[in-house]
Amino acid sequence: MRVTVLGFQSPYPGPNGATPGYLIETDSKRLLLDCGSGVLSQLGKYVPIHQLDALLLSHYHHDHIADVGVLQYGLMVHQLFQEREKNRPLPIYAPAQPIVDSQSLLYRQATSFHPVDEQTHLAIGDIQIRFLRTDHGNGDPCYAMRLESQGKVLVYGADSGPGTNWEGFASDVDLFICEGTYLDHNKPKESNGHLSVRDTAQLAEALKCRALLITHLYHLYEPEVVQQQAEAYTSGTCYVASIGLQITL
Ligand SMILES: [Zn+2]
Ligand SMILES: [Zn+2]
Repeated sequence: MRVTVLGFQSPYPGPNGATPGYLIETDSKRLLLDCGSGVLSQLGKYVPIHQLDALLLSHYHHDHIADVGVLQYGLMVHQLFQEREKNRPLPIYAPAQPIVDSQSLLYRQATSFHPVDEQTHLAIGDIQIRFLRTDHGNGDPCYAMRLESQGKVLVYGADSGPGTNWEGFASDVDLFICEGTYLDHNKPKESNGHLSVRDTAQLAEALKCRALLITHLYHLYEPEVVQQQAEAYTSGTCYVASIGLQITL
């Protein structure tokens, strides 16, 4: 499995930036995890959008879905130009709630909607996928994703506060993509459904992840500071997300 960071910023993209989106490639499949603001313009450097096999959305906050509408337009035009089969909508796997959002994922013949929850076991080609509801927001679900392929395990933590129960889900992880929304100096006193860089590093250490990719970062954070705060609390390999960063498992 190869991961390419297409976007990692939140809540909005900095200059030439993008909010969360990750391209996952195996020998046979190309998946997009989340589709934030600016992700499509990055994706095109690696894969034409009409060659994607699936899109998986963790939840419906704007920083994770902002480019879905233009992806639908793009696929519609590729079908019109006969570069993608008309009877081959791009499947979008995403939470069923809120309904107003999930209903928008079915668009003409360009995209189809497939609800997921913790009971879902997906097999997309050579990739097995399961979902875990995270501690994020008030009421509407957000799902982390566990992807397994050819003996390697990737967990994408989506957006998550400290209340997520990772046990039994994030075990034997080769790469944990996890949010580090705050540095120590601006972490809110009350938990609000996000983790700090320090929280993330401590979590990766507790879960014995072999490598950690810290993401969901404010665009003005200095990567060196993020790296320093993380490495103080984890002994595994630690990457700080940047656009174009590729990691092969
Ligand atoms: Zn969110
Ligand atoms: Zn977010």
